[in-house]
Amino acid sequence: MENLQIFWRGLSRKCPQCGQGKIFESWIQVQDVCAICRLPLASREGDTWAFMYISTAFITGLFVLAMLWILPNNLWMGRILIAATALGFFFLTWPFRKGAAIAFDYFVELRMEKKVGLKFRE
Ligand SMILES: [Zn+2]
Repeated sequence: MENLQIFWRGLSRKCPQCGQGKIFESWIQVQDVCAICRLPLASREGDTWAFMYISTAFITGLFVLAMLWILPNNLWMGRILIAATALGFFFLTWPFRKGAAIAFDYFVELRMEKKVGLKFRE
């Protein structure tokens, strides 16, 4: 239950630790630390590339399937429409995917501290 809460907080663009502070200071700019609990956030961005890459590849796959399924009457209009929709979708879902990735990084950190005894913070 607590694990789901961590992911839900990330998807909602809230701090995965306290659920109160915001992860982002603008649409895509990650805060350095949570304003409420001081959890480091920006330093986690380097650990989110795999999640972002996989989620982007997944969405691209959905768009490829849509292109194979839907045959537009005008090919050029279909191409423009699919490109604009895809770019808009990537941009609009970015902070939610990034928030989930940061929450996942926090989740892994908690698990490592619990199981292996590694300490990532003082
Ligand atoms: Zn917080």
